[in-house]
Amino acid sequence: MKILANDGISKSGIAALEEAGFEVITTKVAQEQVANYINNNNISVILVRSATKVRKDIIDACPRLKIIGRGGVGMDNIDVEYAREKGIHVINTPASSSDSVAELVFAHLFTGVRFLYDANRNMPLEGDTNFEGLKKTYANGIELRGKTLGIIGFGRIGRSVARIALGLGMRVIASDKFVGNAEIRVDFYNGQFINVDIPTEPMEDILKHADFITLHVPAQESGYVIGAAELEAMKDGVGIINAARGGIIDEVALIDALESGKVAFAGLDVFEDEPKPAIQVLMHPKVSLTPHIGAATLEAQDRIGTELAEQIVSLLKT
Ligand code: NAD
Repeated sequence: MKILANDGISKSGIAALEEAGFEVITTKVAQEQVANYINNNNISVILVRSATKVRKDIIDACPRLKIIGRGGVGMDNIDVEYAREKGIHVINTPASSSDSVAELVFAHLFTGVRFLYDANRNMPLEGDTNFEGLKKTYANGIELRGKTLGIIGFGRIGRSVARIALGLGMRVIASDKFVGNAEIRVDFYNGQFINVDIPTEPMEDILKHADFITLHVPAQESGYVIGAAELEAMKDGVGIINAARGGIIDEVALIDALESGKVAFAGLDVFEDEPKPAIQVLMHPKVSLTPHIGAATLEAQDRIGTELAEQIVSLLKT
């Protein structure tokens, strides 16, 4: 049986699938050619990340497709219910990248509080006019320890963020539409751990009290989770991180809030328009950017590949 891994798959995933007798094709097929390629090459399984869309048109055109696999969490690029109605298995790997996304949140947070997003572009050099003065603009950083981190969306990634924050000595407050409270287990390198109970609170309280806010909700059916009103309700000088989905934060309102100083900095891994975000976001001097790479660590990609392989083997070989 043949598998098309159209957005790539780790070597460990390929090895596990080949060992089980599958042929894995990693050729990148253009979106408009995917259906033809699947049919002409007798593909039984298509694996995607976030780039390739598997919509009704492909599902209708490929009746022999048995599995659609998403390496990662969000399945907004797949017509999941429709595929399932047609008898196609739709699988993903929800837990494999949580720690990687959470660590990226802190990459953006540390970048924000020490102005690395700006220093990386504009660090003054000795000999520059007003060198000492310019240097001082980077000398007003703040520590994360002791600050309050507001987590909106307290699922897998939100809790992984909480673990790291607790380890850094931050106060953690969280809000979730459906999760009541969560016991967070903070593991140490020597095998010891502590459990910390974090009750969730209404979102208004998070907006009001957090020094930094990080978003971990899925793509919403409609509307922004953070729009102008929510930004207004935040503390002055708040830092905002979004490594969830672009459409959950109103980028125009965010740029306005950055301009006014209401928001001190933003760290964005996801954008309303991907893969070409709005120029106002890309060029903004107070924004730290990454190109949707939350899950893109070697460890997460390994886990994703292996988990997909295990599920495919169990669905098609047992
Ligand atoms: P999860 O399902 O474990 O957690 C999401 C939580 O959000 C749930 O507890 C849910 O109850 C809550 N929620 C939903 N809507 C809400 C709302 N309007 N307000 C408050 N809470 C709300 O998912 P997860 O594994 O933690 O992943 C979260 C999101 O992160 C994914 O859906 C995906 O969009 C994104 N993600 C991004 C990357 C990346 O590369 N940047 C990688 C993986 C996942």
